[in-house]
Amino acid sequence: MPEEPSFAGKQLHIGRPNIGDRNSLLKRINDIIDRCWLTNNGRYVQEFESRIADLLGVKHCVAICNATIGLEIAIRALNLTGEVIVPSFTFIASAHSLQWQQITPVFCDIDPATHNIDPKKIESLITPHTTAIMGVHLWGRACDVKALAEIASRRGLKLLFDASHAFGCSHDGRMIGGFGNAEVFSFHATKFINSLEGGVVTTNDDELAQKMRLMKNFGFTGYDCVEYIGTNGKMNEISAAMGLTNLESMDEFIQINRDHYELYHEELASIPGLALIDYDINERCNFQYIVVDLDADTVGVTRNAMVEHLYRHGIIARRYFYPGCHRMQPYLRSMPDAGLHLPETERLSERLFCLPTGSAISANDVRTISRLIQNALPLQR
Ligand SMILES: *Cc1c(COP(=O)(O)O)cnc(C)c1O
Repeated sequence: MPEEPSFAGKQLHIGRPNIGDRNSLLKRINDIIDRCWLTNNGRYVQEFESRIADLLGVKHCVAICNATIGLEIAIRALNLTGEVIVPSFTFIASAHSLQWQQITPVFCDIDPATHNIDPKKIESLITPHTTAIMGVHLWGRACDVKALAEIASRRGLKLLFDASHAFGCSHDGRMIGGFGNAEVFSFHATKFINSLEGGVVTTNDDELAQKMRLMKNFGFTGYDCVEYIGTNGKMNEISAAMGLTNLESMDEFIQINRDHYELYHEELASIPGLALIDYDINERCNFQYIVVDLDADTVGVTRNAMVEHLYRHGIIARRYFYPGCHRMQPYLRSMPDAGLHLPETERLSERLFCLPTGSAISANDVRTISRLIQNALPLQR
């Protein structure tokens, strides 16, 4: 048995937060307290919105308290009802944001090459109740936007993107943020840019943007006047301060992620049956997910055994997106046979896992994790 590397009790988690310059953050927080303006479209929220709109090249950016509420607000503002076609291979919030408003998520299988919703499988899922397609740019790799837009326009459907993974990524040389009717980003603590909790909805549609701005503030159009059913989706000033501070370190975070990705690639390249997913280097990419595809027959160890082995050594790797939304409630109960139409979702949810990355870990950590993976392999037969 080769010697096992030790982390001396330290745990390395997937999704440990990236934190930018502490002094810039504290300066902003001090200013917020001095100015005594904590929320309700304050100076820092406005600055955060305009920086992101500029970065993504979109007309409107609406800051929201988190991406889940962002999706819900976009769904409401787009008047979606009935059924929406969405992948099952995503974080549960993509589906819940629909079901929360009595819209049925209709799960579509994914393209095994991209892990994104498979446009070829959408048409057969469209019914008279379908009002939209929700794509998810998984791992920051863009959906087949062109094919989705073509179907949406031909079938009179809205097109919404859960872009939670895709901040700072491009598609065909254009920043993600301006595709479809609207796109929603997450700045949750575990995402590569965080605002503690937070999100934004981006769109080039003036009317939609205005409606979402009202809806995130209870529907108020004036002091005593309400226009829509609204909710409280406002981002607070401290979140915006954190978001702005982290935005200033974005290039550095991406470089760290990229270096870790390349090092993992190098360290793990010699293991047959184990591969990191690819990123298109001709696009802008945030490299925030180190996604490993493990073929148990070739590797000789199951994905689950590998994840458990890492866990025992303090590495909190995660099975993404296991077991798929359709195998979680309430969807499993309401559509127990959904899996029959989702072969790629089921296959990949048994093979993939994510490894730690980001500014909280070092190159040495990457080497140690890679060695642990090597150690889990059966001896040469
Ligand atoms: C993180 C995430 C969300 C939820 O974002 P919050 O800001 O935590 O609400 C939704 N969809 C996907 C794909 C995510 O990864």
